[in-house]
Amino acid sequence: MDDDASRALTRYDAIGGQPVSEAAAGAILTIELGAIRENYRRLKARLNGVRCAGVLKADGYGLGAAQVASALAKEGCDIFFVALLGEGIALRKAIGPGPDIFVLNGLPPGSEPEALAAGLCPVINSPVQLKAWRGTARDAARNLPAAIQVDSGMARLGMAPADVEALAGEAGAFNGIDVRFVMSHLARADEPQQAANEEQRREFERLRKMLPAAPASLANSSGIFLGPEYHHELARPGAALYGVNPTPYAPNPMLPAIRLDAKVAQTREIGAGTGIGYGHTNRADRPLRLATISLGYGDGWHRRAASAAWFEGVRLPFVGRVSMDSIILDISALPAGRLGEGDLVELIGPSQSVDDAAGHAGTIGYEILTSLGARFHRRYTGG
Ligand SMILES: *Cc1c(COP(=O)(O)O)cnc(C)c1O
Repeated sequence: MDDDASRALTRYDAIGGQPVSEAAAGAILTIELGAIRENYRRLKARLNGVRCAGVLKADGYGLGAAQVASALAKEGCDIFFVALLGEGIALRKAIGPGPDIFVLNGLPPGSEPEALAAGLCPVINSPVQLKAWRGTARDAARNLPAAIQVDSGMARLGMAPADVEALAGEAGAFNGIDVRFVMSHLARADEPQQAANEEQRREFERLRKMLPAAPASLANSSGIFLGPEYHHELARPGAALYGVNPTPYAPNPMLPAIRLDAKVAQTREIGAGTGIGYGHTNRADRPLRLATISLGYGDGWHRRAASAAWFEGVRLPFVGRVSMDSIILDISALPAGRLGEGDLVELIGPSQSVDDAAGHAGTIGYEILTSLGARFHRRYTGG
């Protein structure tokens, strides 16, 4: 993969198209490709010989689809899933021919020639999409690969059971389609006690029997941990590769894959009674030492997040509101002068995981990762 191609794919590594140097940046996002590779190996070990794809939608959950793809390729991963055709086209340009790239959301009507030209495989989610891809195959005078997705009980994407039943009786419905996988997606895989998992699995088995025989795929990250009945012939993990806990009901079996450190822009001392930040939502009840860091909701750090930064194991609570480009920390717990301009404090790392940060923001690790913004210096290690 050449640098231009990887830059073209990564939405987030530049301000106005220019990469941000470590010295210039307000915050540094470290992406540990070695940890992502180790997470892939851990999932493979659990899958016991079943094939394992890499899900790279939303630019590899915000971490850089091209960089993650080339790291996973070194572990033998040769099937990738993106959400949108545009993501697939960019990923193909970045990684070149070879690996299969599936487009989960299907192809918007009229875009089939672009998908064909880029050598992408649609995930076909409806009879309309099936007909369109059949037409594309006819025009191309060859069979074209695709996955067929069925809705086994999530009501989001995939052929409804009635559609599958109708297609089963239709001669030539799959003419020209090389069905690589029949797949479906679980709504509650992170809740192993829920009967919905078993119901979806059974419905998937029923529906796939009506479709052309092909390898089956059901499990996302959490689905892998539901047990071998959910593994079929291909698993499709995303979040677990990036260190998000696929088993929220138990300790995280994955390695953390990112670190986020923000720079101190300024420090100050304030007296008791001083109002802090927009709206003076916080007022010092005693003299405080404060540090303002260069990271805010404009970088994807949720404004509502009640949170803290960390420095050498010391918790530095946010005081006042999160601003667009800055957050004020109470650093009174550190010795005077310990933290100065340009020093880095940890937002995500050994003291605070992605899942912890999500908990403070009332959201999930997926949203924290995909929110990480455009202004960081991005450092890749272990590729
Ligand atoms: C996002 C997605 C995945 C990956 O899910 P994770 O929970 O991140 O592992 C797999 N399959 C489909 C259809 C998806 O939309």
